Amino acid sequence: MRHIYHPAAFDPSLPVDSYWAESAPPLSVELSKLTGDETCDVAVIGAGYTGLSAALHLARDHGVDVRVLERGQPGWAASGRNGGFCCLGGTKASFDTLAGRHGRDEALRFATTQVEAVELVRELSQSEGFDVEAYGEGEIEVAHQRRHVAGLEAESVRMREIYGLDCRVYRKDELRQAGMAMGGGEAALYIPLGFGLHPMKYVRGLAEAAVRRGARVHGDSPVETWQKSDGWHILTTPGGTLRAKTVIVATNGYTPEGLHPGLDGRVLPALTNIITTRPLSEAEREEQGWTTPVPAFDSRTLLHYFRLLPDGRFLLGSRGGLNAAPGSAAGKKADMQKRLARMFPAWANIEISHFWRGFVCLAADLVPHIARLPDDRSVIHALAYHGNGVSMGTWAGRAAARLAVQAAPDDEIVPAVAGQPLPRFPLPGLRTLYLRGAYAAYWLKDEIL
Ligand SMILES: Cc1cc2nc3c(=O)[nH]c(=O)nc-3n(C[C@H](O)[C@H](O)[C@H](O)COP(=O)(O)OP(=O)(O)OC[C@H]3O[C@@H](n4cnc5c(N)ncnc54)[C@H](O)[C@@H]3O)c2cc1C
Repeated sequence: MRHIYHPAAFDPSLPVDSYWAESAPPLSVELSKLTGDETCDVAVIGAGYTGLSAALHLARDHGVDVRVLERGQPGWAASGRNGGFCCLGGTKASFDTLAGRHGRDEALRFATTQVEAVELVRELSQSEGFDVEAYGEGEIEVAHQRRHVAGLEAESVRMREIYGLDCRVYRKDELRQAGMAMGGGEAALYIPLGFGLHPMKYVRGLAEAAVRRGARVHGDSPVETWQKSDGWHILTTPGGTLRAKTVIVATNGYTPEGLHPGLDGRVLPALTNIITTRPLSEAEREEQGWTTPVPAFDSRTLLHYFRLLPDGRFLLGSRGGLNAAPGSAAGKKADMQKRLARMFPAWANIEISHFWRGFVCLAADLVPHIARLPDDRSVIHALAYHGNGVSMGTWAGRAAARLAVQAAPDDEIVPAVAGQPLPRFPLPGLRTLYLRGAYAAYWLKDEIL
């Protein structure tokens, strides 16, 4: 198996150095490696939000004998190192594109799914009794140039039509008073849905809940080969083999090429980078004028995302970069520091406490895929949330569980938008080149044109 980026980025034995890993309590349950030859009804590959949500729902709601195989430990990958935005999203295709592909009703159904997904995270943390450190209600989009202000007004109207949400647009002269003042900020749209959370606390809470409900989760158990014989899938890890009638693939941006031929050349992992500052004093936050706890992003296509954390620390994230080799980290961290200084000038010289990065997952048609493989209906995959998998991955895991037990016809479980076969990228060997071209075009659009 191989990856289209430097292999070190997929090695769970190397430290991630995220603020989240440092500040989350350790898992309270023991997870053993898979050893010997085992059998179960449903095997899940990957212990992030998607795989753990699938396992939790299978064990709790459907009484299924389910095991999860994870290359590292739960939350080692994107689910333990993201920005913690539990918000609307999952696709990079516009509503009109989705309505053109599947009709307006199905596009609206997918919008409802996004709302449900946010609520599902909140509901699971309450019903399973774990703390996700929810912080800041809603989400903010900041116009980073004057010409994007009209776009925010239009977005506000669309939010009402599509999601039924009453948003508010803040003018430039209202931003400081609202605690949303930043370099280049011309206006802001407040979206009254979503919240920020601690991603590692969330993924560990899900893992503990899944185990408590009867799922078996095996860490340090990478699937190295996958065969099928007499209707059984046989997944081989270094310590043992697992036989299952159904497999759920929940590997998202960490999916290796060669895991299953039905997935090869079909996902495009993309790097995203995060820095956090040391905790800022109240006076330092006031000086900049950014005091809101609400998670925010800007109007760039290659967007920045940012939020204050409960201890006063500031988190800034940004997509981009094609070099995932360990030696490239220092340059990327310096680049992120420059962005912080430009966007939040009062914090230009504030100490950076952590820098880390990881992979989100794109599909060629820019929508999530929660479906069976066309050539083998006993293989279900749930992935490609386009950088928005905190809520959508959780929802997709539950939907994958329902597909696995055939709780209803597939198209009743998953909206048409997300229920299609995962398309192969044309000339998949060129995937990182496509990304290079897209980044250059987006940079021109965001900064120059
Ligand atoms: C830096 C960063 C910031 C982000 N910010 C946000 C945000 O603020 N809000 C948001 O909604 N989304 C955000 N995302 C995206 C979000 O984190 C992901 O969409 C989500 O975590 C996907 O969850 P998952 O369970 O599908 O995949 P992952 O959490 O990536 O888990 C996949 C798992 O599969 C395992 N795996 C892969 N191959 C094998 C194998 N052969 N055998 C066994 N296991 C295997 C991996 O080890 C990994 O643990 C961000 C992502 C990154 C990287």
